[in-house]
Amino acid sequence: MATRYQWLILQDGNLPLQPDGGVTSAPHQCTTTLVWPCDSSPTRHNSLVIDPCFTSAGYAEADRRLQQLGASWNDIGTYFESHLHLDHCLLVPQNPTAWSWLRARSQSFAGWSAYDHARSPLRDLELVPCPGHAPELLAVRIQHPLGEVWIVSDAILSRQWLTAWQYYWPNIYDSQEVRETWRSVARILAWADWIVPGHGPPFRVDMELLTELAAGFPGAEQHLACSDVLQTLEERSLRLRSVL
Ligand SMILES: [Zn+2]
Repeated sequence: MATRYQWLILQDGNLPLQPDGGVTSAPHQCTTTLVWPCDSSPTRHNSLVIDPCFTSAGYAEADRRLQQLGASWNDIGTYFESHLHLDHCLLVPQNPTAWSWLRARSQSFAGWSAYDHARSPLRDLELVPCPGHAPELLAVRIQHPLGEVWIVSDAILSRQWLTAWQYYWPNIYDSQEVRETWRSVARILAWADWIVPGHGPPFRVDMELLTELAAGFPGAEQHLACSDVLQTLEERSLRLRSVL
């Protein structure tokens, strides 16, 4: 049977910029997630940290959460950068030891194929291309006993940004990148039971969310050029209804 994985948010994602253009006082920090097989504790041989870009406060909190789990930084085996934006790439402030420890275990997406994936306890997690926000962006898909968890980084910034059908406009996307963004969103919504977004708390994919998204999609930029997105939402709704 495929390995099932446990996950823990080490750093809570935040984004001061709001979909309506407002700016809050929240710190800009990415969601950082630890993943390891369900049937064991995290060790340096079986664990993965996704998007290890820590703020000072985020690092202190991550340290506390690792301790609560009975683990430490020494139990982190590999790190993974979902895409090359600087707010997701390795940064461990005021802790050169932790930084060099993680650096020695670099496993960016570019090096993933060189990693001995087939023999790894992480072999059953899947990397799914989700371009749009960044061409190289890869989401991590894992099976948890309660369903599928997709750790998607900035393919979805937060539940709030998703339901507003807004993308991170400061990056100035062209129309093709906007369409790719929505198609990546559809790829995620087709299967995920839980989504861990790049700058917000995890949230569940349920009928309420799918209904809200389908109703809001006609307000999305480029929506007429990607009606397949709406079709995917409808198909997922039908499947969800059939298991209720
Ligand atoms: Zn990004």
